[in-house]
Amino acid sequence: MSMKRIALLTSGGDAPGMNAAIRAVTRRALDRDWEVFGVERGYQGLMQSSFIPLNARDVGGIIQLGGTVLGSARAPEFATEAGRRTALHHLAKRGIDALIVIGGNGSQAGNHALSSMGFPTVGIASTIDNDLYGSEPTIGVDTALNVTIESIDRLRTTGSSHHRAHLVQTMGRDHGFLALMAGIAGGAEVVVIPEAEVEPDEIASRLRAAYLRGKTHSIVVVSEGCKNNAQAIAHHFEQHEDEIGFVVRVTILGHVVRGAAPTARDRLIATRMGVAAVDALADGQHGILVGYEGDEICRTPLEIVASNQKKLNLDWIQLARILAQ
Ligand code: ATP
Repeated sequence: MSMKRIALLTSGGDAPGMNAAIRAVTRRALDRDWEVFGVERGYQGLMQSSFIPLNARDVGGIIQLGGTVLGSARAPEFATEAGRRTALHHLAKRGIDALIVIGGNGSQAGNHALSSMGFPTVGIASTIDNDLYGSEPTIGVDTALNVTIESIDRLRTTGSSHHRAHLVQTMGRDHGFLALMAGIAGGAEVVVIPEAEVEPDEIASRLRAAYLRGKTHSIVVVSEGCKNNAQAIAHHFEQHEDEIGFVVRVTILGHVVRGAAPTARDRLIATRMGVAAVDALADGQHGILVGYEGDEICRTPLEIVASNQKKLNLDWIQLARILAQ
């Protein structure tokens, strides 16, 4: 396909490394003498025709920044055919030949829907939740994980001084990857994720056992999508504090884990994916997601991405328990 003009957007939750991907897409495309337009605020901006031309200098000084310089938004109208027709109308009016969508699960579902209407699109796998089929990991996961374990480490330090247990709630929506990996890397005593819920009674008895084994502190990592979130568990503990041994404190890690500067790993995978997305279009490929697998770039049809769920390897849960003894 001879490409002249492409647009790119970031959609859904922002992820550290999105800017590195924006920079790589732009400069790789400019290198091929294509024109590049950034779409502001994701699909919302696409439906409002918010295009800005990007040159090499416009994407300078952003590789080290978290978030996305193009902005992002939730855009429910894009899930309707009428919304997507509006988007297609604006793309045609600007003479855009193809669109690159940097985002997670929902964003790639939207991308698939647009691609199914006949417009050439390529996705780039980006979400801190790591819940997108077709990429292991996605852009942003490494940074979010590192920020999460840094917080856990600090809580462990203060916890040891006071014989406290800290209940830490991590991000991750319905997917427990971030909580489980942070729990293992942070040496948590108990990990609670939507894929493997643990009742408050059971958490309390595991904390009690850890206390009796002579631990000076305990960390419980809870994923935000759990039936019993950190607040619900803490409420239960308040009524049973003397049975646990430790005094329990709650920390909710919300959006702070999103805003960090991307790690080297996230910058590198974002850069490689950005380049690969442009190269895929140059090869005449579209309707695909560019992801990462075993340290290599991979391409997966958006149809497969949209119809599959990434599964968490639950062997890790057992391992987390063994290592907490
Ligand atoms: P993250 O998981 O990191 O938050 P995400 O891409 O999964 O990112 P969502 O809020 O789920 O974030 O989706 C972003 C946008 O994608 C939505 O606001 C909507 O515009 C579009 N979208 C989501 N699902 C669909 C769908 N089934 N069809 C069309 N568009 C969709």
